[in-house]
Amino acid sequence: MASGNPGKIREIARLLSDLGIDIVAQSALGVDDADETGKTFAENAFIKARHAAAATGLPAIADDSGLVVDALDGAPGIYSARYAGPDASDDMNIDKLLAALGDVEIPARGAAFHCAATFVTPDDETALICEAQWCGAILQARQGDGGFGYDPVFLDPESGASSALLTPQQKNARSHRGKALRGLVALIREHFS
Ligand code: IMP
Repeated sequence: MASGNPGKIREIARLLSDLGIDIVAQSALGVDDADETGKTFAENAFIKARHAAAATGLPAIADDSGLVVDALDGAPGIYSARYAGPDASDDMNIDKLLAALGDVEIPARGAAFHCAATFVTPDDETALICEAQWCGAILQARQGDGGFGYDPVFLDPESGASSALLTPQQKNARSHRGKALRGLVALIREHFS
């Protein structure tokens, strides 16, 4: 897994548990993060997976995600993690987002989380991708402190509350990442069966 994030590793390991495959974090094999130089979520997810596969000689899975806001022409998009600067905290990114939207009313505050999940083999013979979205809107102020990133200001239409107030199970069931990873796992199963 082209990530050092224990939450992501656990999630993908759970999805693949019945295949008898060990999921190992690239960080546990001494592999550093790749430079995310792509222009799209898909390009960045392939860059990360190919970097991990080349460095380890093992098949690799990667994901790349971010928040796309309609009224901001798709920003922060692939720059979501560093929207307020290279070392920006989640709070700084949220402050910048709320300031950029100002007092725009809810109907025009539409947004979606996007995720691209990729799988590649070291010889690059197999390259699979699944992309998914989670549509919602940006709240005027923070609500709750669960989750991470932009969760406190992302309105989940199904619950009518921010995604910071969902349980991990609820979030996983409807999130961009949950849907993209489940779709990718289905593609991997189909490809190798
Ligand atoms: P990456 O997939 O680790 O590159 O994530 C990029 C950035 O997008 C994160 O640092 C967050 O700011 C944002 N992001 C992605 N997924 C979520 C989510 O599920 N909730 C909140 N923020 C997210």
